[in-house]
Amino acid sequence: MAEPQLDRIAELIAPLRIEPGERVRLRRDHDPGYTAGLDRHRDGEDLLQRGVALLADHQARLAAESTRGVLVVLQALDAAGKDGTIRHVMSGVNPQGVRVHSFKVPSAEERAHDFLWRYSGRLPARGEIAIFNRSHYEEVLVVRVHPELLDQEHQPPAPRGKELWQRRFRAINEWERQLTEDGFHIVKLFLNVSKDEQRKRLLARIDEPAKNWKFSASDLAERKHWADYQRAYADMLAHTSTKHAPWYVIPADHKWFARIAAAAVIADTLIGIDPQYPTLDRKGRRELRQFRGALEKG
Ligand code: AMP
Ligand code: MG
Repeated sequence: MAEPQLDRIAELIAPLRIEPGERVRLRRDHDPGYTAGLDRHRDGEDLLQRGVALLADHQARLAAESTRGVLVVLQALDAAGKDGTIRHVMSGVNPQGVRVHSFKVPSAEERAHDFLWRYSGRLPARGEIAIFNRSHYEEVLVVRVHPELLDQEHQPPAPRGKELWQRRFRAINEWERQLTEDGFHIVKLFLNVSKDEQRKRLLARIDEPAKNWKFSASDLAERKHWADYQRAYADMLAHTSTKHAPWYVIPADHKWFARIAAAAVIADTLIGIDPQYPTLDRKGRRELRQFRGALEKG
């Protein structure tokens, strides 16, 4: 791949990254309608296709190398476009090398374990890309907005205020650090949709019969907690964006841009890993020549 394209990816994603310890003010500093000066018709399709091709090439090498793995964490409020982003961004990769896990309301068995248990069972193997469609971060988002959920999590008696969330942030950071040190690269995307755009998309789920199945009454209930979610997201971003596992805030009011930006962030991670096809040593090459000789004899 030519250098200018790499520069372009780096340039595109840098403003979206949350630096460790950065103060996060979503409303003020992160416009959901941002498009980096790109034009949908001029740049949209072409950039996405290039990102998808880059991902496919690197994913094939990641799988062949089977040393490192990648975890993509996707978080967002309802109707921000998580499913469509996964569908488009991963459209070029070999399905054998990618697993998508969608985390819903936890089961009784999951709730009976420590809060990271169900997520640790779904991590990628070496050579794989795993995508968490919702993730361990729900444990500091939906659970924070609805602390009554903690009662179902069988928590031991302990302070439930700010301290609990600080403790969870610390546990998550340590868990992610340990995974990174063991060869698993983590990249985290928050699809940032505006309240007005969410309203339009939820209306479309009601008005368009083919989208009716997507509508859930709980989407409306959660929308009432919009401000609480914004606060929980901002605090989570500020405390869990680390050098080893950074958060990117992906402007999500324009689906075409969100897809390009998500592809760019994941491509950048894979380019950073630079996985290589394994090469044979002299003995291996000699053996191959012998196999070739045997095959040539018929
Ligand atoms: P969806 O992504 O639209 O299929 O919805 C999944 C639902 O599961 C959402 O309403 C989430 O808030 C909920 N959910 C996901 N993880 C958790 C969790 N750890 N605790 C409680 N609810 C969760
Ligand atoms: Mg939903």
